[in-house]
Amino acid sequence: MAKITKSPWLLHYDGSSCNGCDIEVLACLTPVYDVERFGIINTGNPKHADIFLVTGGINEKNKAVVKQLYDQMPEPKVVVAVGICACNGGVFKDAYNIIGGVDKAIPVDVYVPGCAARPEAIIDGVVKALGVLDEKQKAFKAAKKQKGENK
Ligand code: SF4
Repeated sequence: MAKITKSPWLLHYDGSSCNGCDIEVLACLTPVYDVERFGIINTGNPKHADIFLVTGGINEKNKAVVKQLYDQMPEPKVVVAVGICACNGGVFKDAYNIIGGVDKAIPVDVYVPGCAARPEAIIDGVVKALGVLDEKQKAFKAAKKQKGENK
């Protein structure tokens, strides 16, 4: 498991899911799974979030919203696509309004397949995301240090 140096905060956004995956994300917060015991907090504010958890696919209406939420998150940040709809459009892939998965709007770091994605798989995806976040934090700090040295 990735070394966690700070409590990672999540932002959850429902793209155009059937709500099946959203229920499973919420299940991760219940006493059965209780991800808060690891310091993982579900925040409603993108400016406080390190991890962007998206369920459902991307359509013309939500594409700009997903991009805006992503842009509001501070660097470094990671994106987790939860459920097959978020991975590639899933069962709604051929619907007239669906463009595809989350990576049609923003870069995705971790894909969690499943319909619905089970809480264990979502938690596993978040743990993978923490590893990616750790790497990005190191690169971010190194870049900042180099910038400072060059001044
Ligand atoms: S992957 Fe399945 S459960 Fe999740 S949003 Fe899509 S249809 Fe619903």
